[in-house]
Amino acid sequence: MPSESHVDVLIVGAGISGIGAAYHLQDKCPGKTYLILERRQRLGGTWDLFRYPGIRSDSDMYTFGYSFRPWTQPEFVASGDAILEYLRETVDAYGIGEKIRYGQNVMRASWSSRDARWTVEARDESSGEDARVSCNFLFMCAGYYDYDEGFTPDFEGVERFGGRIIHPQNWTDDVAYQDQRVVVIGSGATAVTLIPELAKKAAHVTMLQRSPSYVVAKPGRDRIADWLRKHLPQRHAYALTRWKNVLYTMFMYWFCRARPERAKALIVGEARKMLGDDYDVETHFTPRYDPWDQRVCLAPDGDFFQTIRSGRASVVTGEIDCFTENGIRTSSGTELEADLIVTATGLELRFLGGLQVQVDGHAVDLPETFAYKGMMCSDVPNMALSLGYTNASWTLKSDLTAEYVCRLLNHMDSHGYAYCCARANNPSMQAESMLPLSSGYMERGRHRFPKDAALAPWKLHQNYALDLVALRYASLKDDVMQFERLAEHRASDSWRKFFA
Ligand SMILES: Cc1cc2nc3c(=O)[nH]c(=O)nc-3n(C[C@H](O)[C@H](O)[C@H](O)COP(=O)(O)OP(=O)(O)OC[C@H]3O[C@@H](n4cnc5c(N)ncnc54)[C@H](O)[C@@H]3O)c2cc1C
Repeated sequence: MPSESHVDVLIVGAGISGIGAAYHLQDKCPGKTYLILERRQRLGGTWDLFRYPGIRSDSDMYTFGYSFRPWTQPEFVASGDAILEYLRETVDAYGIGEKIRYGQNVMRASWSSRDARWTVEARDESSGEDARVSCNFLFMCAGYYDYDEGFTPDFEGVERFGGRIIHPQNWTDDVAYQDQRVVVIGSGATAVTLIPELAKKAAHVTMLQRSPSYVVAKPGRDRIADWLRKHLPQRHAYALTRWKNVLYTMFMYWFCRARPERAKALIVGEARKMLGDDYDVETHFTPRYDPWDQRVCLAPDGDFFQTIRSGRASVVTGEIDCFTENGIRTSSGTELEADLIVTATGLELRFLGGLQVQVDGHAVDLPETFAYKGMMCSDVPNMALSLGYTNASWTLKSDLTAEYVCRLLNHMDSHGYAYCCARANNPSMQAESMLPLSSGYMERGRHRFPKDAALAPWKLHQNYALDLVALRYASLKDDVMQFERLAEHRASDSWRKFFA
């Protein structure tokens, strides 16, 4: 990359959001120049980073796929490799690849209102070389967690353990588990995905959880989608399936929140059916919280339950007392022998990929800002960020965010505005958390993210239908979004008015 360059829009991150953002820009703002700066050497973000056995989506691919590019595979959920392939094909199909600059860790961005420009500093981590790019609009698609390290609690006695300990985020092909006794610590989506796959080759897998999560079995194929694909052109079949699944997911979420006891009984009842009456579902599959207080885990074709039933894997619920030479001792005294321990203990959240932001020479404390429509920080001009849903597919929101950014850019162009900025001008606004779930990683990382408020446009809906209206169709003007011209243009406007 040239050490100094300028583009209209700079996208940071070449994961599913950044690639989608590039497509929307090309499609809706064809005159804009843009670049994508990506820290890693490959595209795909999450789907390239995570390499543990069985890695797959736990959203259906008809909503996790882009609105503009049909998901054509028969599987309802997809493997990490299939998602990566889909992303590579998207990049090739729309000529996005030539716009991506790899190995660029974006570290600082400084905004000048006088020039209506960002100056962005990035470092090539392999050569140590620094580069600067200036842009008019900065679009952060850097995900939501720390790529360098996952979260591992401080377990007592870790150094005593004689086997290997691995966090799923650091999984490499040389992690041996064939014929090994494996303990997986954790009960979230990663553990539920990983265990059936490990159990195919391991001597035995034990899932060690402090407390249970909700696990829901669903068929691995969407029969209605299959039927639609057979009888309709691809695009129509995709659009219909997408809407069907959006509505179904919204209904299920609404039902779980409106009737938590009923939803809980249904989910736990299904687990009992899958595991048999003699299984202690009360202890191992009955969470202490309501469905969707934390993300509900998915078991396609009930694979996770089948693995437990087959005896190849088992569940232990309890606190860890310490690691021993041979495994783990729980606080109830149970000894779990292991050759390999997998710490599926979660992510460490990180906002904007760790970017430091300055506006007109002043450092911005990003967690002190309010999130405008869940995608802009208050009092930070011409910057948007892509954060997807936690209760539905990420891409539904990242697509809408990119469309909204394109609307903003076109609106500013057609009215001669140089920048826009959401002003948090109501001092009585009550701060709420932007992260809606009570999961451990959200609790730990809440303080790193901007705040929400109780009312629109500062309220994050986590609802595709409401966002569709607010982002695709509603007016761009409201009480808080301000559009500004460059100072010299403001001055000439005043003179023009004076002489008129
Ligand atoms: C294991 C796992 C499974 C998941 N499964 C699902 C699922 O089934 N459904 C769902 O909806 N969501 C899921 N998620 C959430 C998931 O992260 C999103 O769905 C989606 O992949 C996020 O895409 P993204 O492009 O926004 O971010 P990411 O995939 O995180 O990509 C961000 C990109 O930005 C780059 N970057 C970050 N910081 C910088 C920087 N400072 N400078 C330059 N580049 C930077 C990163 O290297 C990366 O390439 C899952 C998450 C994980 C961890």
